[in-house]
Amino acid sequence: MNQKISARERMYRLVCEKSSGAYLFISRDREEVCALGQWKKYFDFDITAKRELEKLFEVIDEPYVIPLRDVVFLEKDPSKTERKSVECLTRDKKKWFFFRTDLILDQDGVCTDKIIRIFDITKYKRQSDELDYYSYYDIYTGLYNRNYFIRLLGDFLRRAEKEKETVSVMMLDVDDFHKINDSLGMIAGDEIVQQLGAVIKELCSDRIIACHFNSDVYCIAIFGQSGSETVEKVHGALEERLKSPFYVGNGQTVNLTVTAGVARYPEASDSALDLINCAEVVMLKCKSMGKGSILYYEAPILNDFLTSVELETKLKEALSGNRFELYYQPQFYAGNKKLRGMEALLRWRDEDGRMISPAVFIPIAEKNGFIVPIGSWVLENAIGQYAKWRETYGADFILSINVSAKQYIRPEFVDQLLGILEKHQVNPCQIELEVTESILIEDFDTVSEKLRFLQSKGIRISLDDFGTGFSSLSYLKKLPINTLKIDKSFIDTVLSDSPTRIITESIINMIKSLGFESVAEGVEQEQQYRYLHAVGCDVIQGFFLGKPLCVPDVEKLLQELTVR
Ligand code: C2E
Ligand code: MG
Ligand code: MG
Repeated sequence: MNQKISARERMYRLVCEKSSGAYLFISRDREEVCALGQWKKYFDFDITAKRELEKLFEVIDEPYVIPLRDVVFLEKDPSKTERKSVECLTRDKKKWFFFRTDLILDQDGVCTDKIIRIFDITKYKRQSDELDYYSYYDIYTGLYNRNYFIRLLGDFLRRAEKEKETVSVMMLDVDDFHKINDSLGMIAGDEIVQQLGAVIKELCSDRIIACHFNSDVYCIAIFGQSGSETVEKVHGALEERLKSPFYVGNGQTVNLTVTAGVARYPEASDSALDLINCAEVVMLKCKSMGKGSILYYEAPILNDFLTSVELETKLKEALSGNRFELYYQPQFYAGNKKLRGMEALLRWRDEDGRMISPAVFIPIAEKNGFIVPIGSWVLENAIGQYAKWRETYGADFILSINVSAKQYIRPEFVDQLLGILEKHQVNPCQIELEVTESILIEDFDTVSEKLRFLQSKGIRISLDDFGTGFSSLSYLKKLPINTLKIDKSFIDTVLSDSPTRIITESIINMIKSLGFESVAEGVEQEQQYRYLHAVGCDVIQGFFLGKPLCVPDVEKLLQELTVR
């Protein structure tokens, strides 16, 4: 009997020792406490009796002591608290521990013993801090990132409206930046971007905010015009600094000039995105007139710009001349590689038969508003096509359609979409709208209400390009979202870069815990696929499993699937 018992004890100890956490076993009747598992690795003291539990509270940071006491001295009546947990920081602020108490009950439901499980969650905590940081800031410069900046600019505009104030948006572009990159190398280019970012950061205050817009472009927003916080003063301070050279790592000096374009609320526009667009157009115009200076918005500049580009006419011709086409990229469940859905992707074939990438023309169409009729065309055609596939092949996958913020904010959008679904007798549950975070920026409440309404009709909502901008966690919880698409930029380096891997895994875990579905975009290699599958990503989209296909090719695929 004794041998049996000690063999059992050895086995349990071994299991505990090999598991990843530490354990405190507390018996209700006896004074004894037993510390097991990784305890010695976590703490440099032992606990063998109940009164020694105090030692544990001594190493925990003040604010966490009471919650931890609650968990450790859990009530005996299990109906009140069966299982309780808490996350605690240590007093030296170096470690985070997760404590969870489980009660062990006898057959009458009376608690006889307790087990406190303890896990070191320091690594996980750091990851989520990191993720929070990337939600707001740009990694290179420490300035705000673009999406968060746009959101703050929206706040400025609402405040300005109430206080009858102005808001100026200044877009800054480094002159001849490509020459720096070409002659001194990309690393020197990056250093310049960082140093200039630091200079701009110095100028910020609660009335002045700035972001690193992209590459060598920065955007500054100034609330009101008071004291030293005016466009002229900020620009003047920047010019002053630019008089002295910048030093880069390889010992070279660089003299910089920047070109600035300014657009102001209320004259130029009352929307954050439009103000930025105007400032950009003015900046480009200023460049064309000579570099290193500043230009202020006037209505004709913008009009000139928009009409001078013949693109608008070309886009119009494309729409009326049937030069647009839709391709469809399949998405597969990571687990069984079964077809989950297809994403409709727009293609433009110009007169010479060349394909023009949507990445080129969609931003332009968004700028001049032409995305609205193009978007309507996409909705009508994609849904109409889907209805045909359902008739012929019994297709019942999810059809994902990209919707631009400009389309979405139109009052007629919801009715139009529901009308098209009705006309083609397509079930809204088969449709998924892909939106980007930019739609959330303008007016969070109206947008989420609209999304909620669409979702109540059965339409799925997917957040595209997740991780590239303002990916705040608290924000996401409030939104009616079904799916999050992890941007290709993460997938590209997920195998080679360990910070990206940590972030990607955190994102996937977060998506899971929020109850959304995760889609990885741009999966090109088998190893990426395997990795993503292993870390729990739900759906895979990318060249590895399927490129965007023209209609006849989709039909071949559907035929194969029906035969199988
Ligand atoms: P998106 O919605 O993020 O679409 C995914 C893009 O990634 C597509 O590019 C797709 O072809 C590409 N892609 C997918 N898998 C891979 C891969 O493994 N490797 C590589 N290198 N690329 C991959 P595409 O078709 O050029 O579209 C670019 C963007 O244009 C889309 O990004 C979307 O934002 C926009 N777009 C496309 N069609 C529409 C549309 O109908 N309406 C609106 N508003 N935007 C659209
Ligand atoms: Mg998309
Ligand atoms: Mg995307």
